[in-house]
Amino acid sequence: MTILDAHDPASFRAAGHRLVDGLADYLETAASRQGPVLPPTSPDDLLAEAPSGLAGEPQGDLVDELLEVVRRSNHLHHPGFVGHQISVPLPGGALVEMALALLNNGMAIYEMGPLHAVLERHVVRFLADRLGFPAEADGVLTHGGSLGNLTALLAARQARSEHDVWTEGQSMPLAVLVSEQAHYSIRRSVQCMGWGAEGAVPVATDDRFRLRPDALPAALDQARRAGRHVVAVVASSCSTATGSFDPLPAIADFCESEGLWLHVDGAHGASLALSRRHRDRLDGIDRADSVTWDLHKMMGLPALSTAVLYRDGRRAREAFAQEASYLFDREAPGGDWFDIGPRTFECTKRGMGVTAYLLLRTLGTEAFGEQVDRLLDRARELAELLDAQDDFEIATEPEANILCFRHLAADVADLDDHQDRIRSEVLSGAEFYLVRTELLGKTWLRTTLMNPMTTRDDLLRLVAEIRRASQRAALPSASADD
Ligand SMILES: *Cc1c(COP(=O)(O)O)cnc(C)c1O
Repeated sequence: MTILDAHDPASFRAAGHRLVDGLADYLETAASRQGPVLPPTSPDDLLAEAPSGLAGEPQGDLVDELLEVVRRSNHLHHPGFVGHQISVPLPGGALVEMALALLNNGMAIYEMGPLHAVLERHVVRFLADRLGFPAEADGVLTHGGSLGNLTALLAARQARSEHDVWTEGQSMPLAVLVSEQAHYSIRRSVQCMGWGAEGAVPVATDDRFRLRPDALPAALDQARRAGRHVVAVVASSCSTATGSFDPLPAIADFCESEGLWLHVDGAHGASLALSRRHRDRLDGIDRADSVTWDLHKMMGLPALSTAVLYRDGRRAREAFAQEASYLFDREAPGGDWFDIGPRTFECTKRGMGVTAYLLLRTLGTEAFGEQVDRLLDRARELAELLDAQDDFEIATEPEANILCFRHLAADVADLDDHQDRIRSEVLSGAEFYLVRTELLGKTWLRTTLMNPMTTRDDLLRLVAEIRRASQRAALPSASADD
């Protein structure tokens, strides 16, 4: 086998057909609830059993080994997958990504992916319209909500500092105000920018885990008294742990009166803009200066695919501005729209806009609203099911497709530990995959209804499975005897 053999179109054709057949088999198996969601194995056992390390000689068959990876993965297409917020990818997305990987056009440079750039522009335009942004809005697609939040906060810093921070460096400590429930990437972005841990000023939340606008003035005051120049408020639409939507109109009013940038972290929840029934949860988002929107969550695109959108498109160039912002005013609006590099940290950039464009175009945009509605309906059903039982407590009514709850057992001394034991029991049964979180100093089971194939029957089976797991968990050596 030489490197030139590896480029042989005939073997690619044959391997590709086998692979697609294997993947279609996987989809059938998963959708029909056969096999595990997450195959239960310990990391050490997996390391010992799985294919060996790398030697020099060619070993194994690419498709066979790849299908083994598929077999041992966390199977998101199984309707029992109710865990993290990652999308259950539309199979068409996988086909597009295969072609994109083969083309490998690093499209931040126009000539390295001309049509890629055009399609990304269409996607950015479409998403900005759905947020209610004006015609001069613009943005960029980037790799993930975490990088998206950093990108938007860099733009906020440049726009709301008293001097050109990009060129001159920071001369005073800066800060953002952000809810206690915000995603950790906000704090991480702030610390990457060198503002220290106190650069993210926590704002209290209400009993439904939403930022309290009436707590903003005190937080601003506290930051100012500590000698900080506050540039922005970060709102979550919605929060990660509970899917709570911060009240945007009141936050936007505060930002306007104080001259602060409003960044909305809509990584998870901005997709509600596609739903007729639920878009009112985002009321006021059109007043944001920037919004992060993950397409690889509720929209069902393969990861990573994130839009960073700016109400004033010129701001898109200030995140990584090499020149003072006023210089950009000389440019004709939209003049060099095709030059994506200046708007993103990335140099070589995958053409994720192609995937988004082709799926939105060929499935029709209504399908994505329908998906959001289905996922939110399931979360509401699960909340209703659990509310009706005496042995369950939910953290808060779901506003999105995320629900945190606890199983209450009268005879259990440590209820926090009880949730963790239930989770391990459920995972060892492998019919469901759910996660956990900490809220109000307690441990909760956490579900995100990401799979549009999950039905009400699945939810009933999940509740029964948790009860069974609770009984097994109550036996001291249950897992050892199993
Ligand atoms: C998921 C999420 C993020 C992080 O996005 P990644 O794409 O995983 O980097 C940020 N903020 C919120 C609110 C999220 O839900």
